[in-house]
Amino acid sequence: MTDLVVVGAGTMGAWTALQAIREGRSVSLLDAYGAGHARATSGDETRITRASHGPDEFYAGWSRAAREDWIALGDEVGQDCFLEAGALWFAHRDDGFEAISVETLRRMGVPVERLSPGEAAARWPQIAVEDLAFVVFEPEAGLVMARRSVAAVAARARDLGGSFEITSARPGNADGARMLDVVLGDGRRIAADQFVFACGPWLPGLFPDVAGDLIRVTKQDVCFMGPPAGDTRFAVPSLPCWIDYDASFYGVPAVDGRGTKIAPDEYGVPFDPSSDERLVDERSVRQAHAYLGRRFPALAGAPLVETRVCQYETTPDTNFVIDRHPAFDNVWLVGGGSGHGFKHGPSIGRYVTRLLDGHVAEGPELRFRIDRPREVAATGAGARRIIDEAYTRQ
Ligand SMILES: Cc1cc2nc3c(=O)[nH]c(=O)nc-3n(C[C@H](O)[C@H](O)[C@H](O)COP(=O)(O)OP(=O)(O)OC[C@H]3O[C@@H](n4cnc5c(N)ncnc54)[C@H](O)[C@@H]3O)c2cc1C
Repeated sequence: MTDLVVVGAGTMGAWTALQAIREGRSVSLLDAYGAGHARATSGDETRITRASHGPDEFYAGWSRAAREDWIALGDEVGQDCFLEAGALWFAHRDDGFEAISVETLRRMGVPVERLSPGEAAARWPQIAVEDLAFVVFEPEAGLVMARRSVAAVAARARDLGGSFEITSARPGNADGARMLDVVLGDGRRIAADQFVFACGPWLPGLFPDVAGDLIRVTKQDVCFMGPPAGDTRFAVPSLPCWIDYDASFYGVPAVDGRGTKIAPDEYGVPFDPSSDERLVDERSVRQAHAYLGRRFPALAGAPLVETRVCQYETTPDTNFVIDRHPAFDNVWLVGGGSGHGFKHGPSIGRYVTRLLDGHVAEGPELRFRIDRPREVAATGAGARRIIDEAYTRQ
């Protein structure tokens, strides 16, 4: 019998499988469509890796630890998983999320710079910053090549002795509070000692009683804009990743010959990750054009060269769900990435393996519990994001 079945090979499940295999467990990793596929939340080209989390040292610490794992994975598999592009935060207020993040990172010894608009303009003249209070630069932040790195994690898990199969799976038989097996799409069963369901936006559908009200799945549009011919100012390494929190936009410099990525960060409409079509709204494209033209004047009128529709699976307070299923002693639910879970994949995997070893959540880890009342986040990394049209006016 297998020690562990992990259902879902996104960043959370693939890293859980890999960390468990490294600890000596036998692991079956299963995914309905493959690792890093187009419908998965981990399936975009890139994801930003940053340590700033306002006053929260816990996520900052997880992010820093995970960064080391992404770098080490790249060395192991011989491909660039993490690119140290840096990250810029555009601060509109002196006392907001960005200012608090700087204090937190300094306390933790994480490299961070607080720059006046003039200092930022001197370093990145391609960015218009005159409307900002200040700019924060995290030099050791950057981006993970998301979809191909998740595929690399799953491949690494297989190389180290795990099995990886493309198949859907659902909970199977149980004996009281112990799940005995999962049922695959073709009716076969896999028995195991423990089970992890890391099913991203599919988690509420698979466990409606437990996660149905806890995780909300919304459509999120992503645009890639083409810079002028021969203009490398909007690509890695000239431009860092950037986040304009109060304006609800973020972006990633062009990489791999794709355009410069920009995404409006407000929550979209409810979305079915299996069956809904992935067409971006005209409104998102209009907003992206308007914001880009304002913040990066040389990109005014830059054409849309590619689009992607992703989905957020968000909890009310944007803390992840990492907890034992209330009805089963040997089943864990892992998900609720809430728009910031990708980078943490290695830390999540390490934490889940501790839970499998019998660790009981304590201190800041209690945020992940299913049965904890969660308040809708008002500020910080999880605040409900609404685009102020003032920022998108050309
Ligand atoms: C537009 C956008 C931008 C984002 N930007 C960032 C960012 O910059 N930085 C960051 O850290 N995070 C970011 N995030 C969040 C991050 O991408 C997610 O938190 C993370 O990818 C979620 O990973 P996951 O493993 O939980 O889910 P997924 O990647 O969706 O993986 C779940 C997997 O489970 C499989 N599955 C589901 N049900 C079954 C079943 N029954 N049987 C078999 N397999 C099944 C699916 O096929 C899928 O592969 C962003 C998200 C979006 C949408």
